[in-house]
Amino acid sequence: MKKLFICITILLSIPIFASEFKGRCVSVVEGDIVMVMREGREIKIQLWGIDCPEIEQPFGKKAKEFTTSLILGKTVKVVTQDRWKFDLPQAKLYLDKTYINLEIVKVGLAWYHYWLAPYESDLDSAEKEAQEKKRGLWQTPFPVPPWNWRIGKRSGKVTDPGKDWVFIVRRDKRYHRYSCKYVRYNIIRTTVQGAKLMGFTPCEVCKPEKE
Ligand SMILES: [Zn+2]
Repeated sequence: MKKLFICITILLSIPIFASEFKGRCVSVVEGDIVMVMREGREIKIQLWGIDCPEIEQPFGKKAKEFTTSLILGKTVKVVTQDRWKFDLPQAKLYLDKTYINLEIVKVGLAWYHYWLAPYESDLDSAEKEAQEKKRGLWQTPFPVPPWNWRIGKRSGKVTDPGKDWVFIVRRDKRYHRYSCKYVRYNIIRTTVQGAKLMGFTPCEVCKPEKE
């Protein structure tokens, strides 16, 4: 496990030169992954600060359709960020003055990826509003964040683990029972395994591991 985190830390800290260019969006791979032309080459880009549901997840296809309807075939401004997510350059995308990453969060078709991009207050508040108004994926009571979904997929456990659910909240490194006093806003449901993989520890107040 330590290895995974060291690996992620290294990947997250490779600086690239922030740059800006304009290019036509020639393909939408997923809601948050697009191909843009740059000097005659197709570049694969991950939208900065957001994480759309995977295609097999609820609202995954909707997210792809939404991004497609916004920018496919159009010339967008790509502002790359100085961090890579796994192997892809991350960028803010603009169509004229419209900030595409933000639009996707606003309609409830992406999570704000707060633990990879912790200082994006516009994405943060757009997500809060989408949750309150139950837009898109927030219509379901406890949508599974794609980062947890991917962990489940790797371990071969994507089905509902029932009583194994625990709850985490923003900017807190502990996991809780649903009844815990710390579980109030920005609640994310996950499994004990998922929480541990992300480096969370059991809450000392609600003791989620004891029956
Ligand atoms: Zn607790």
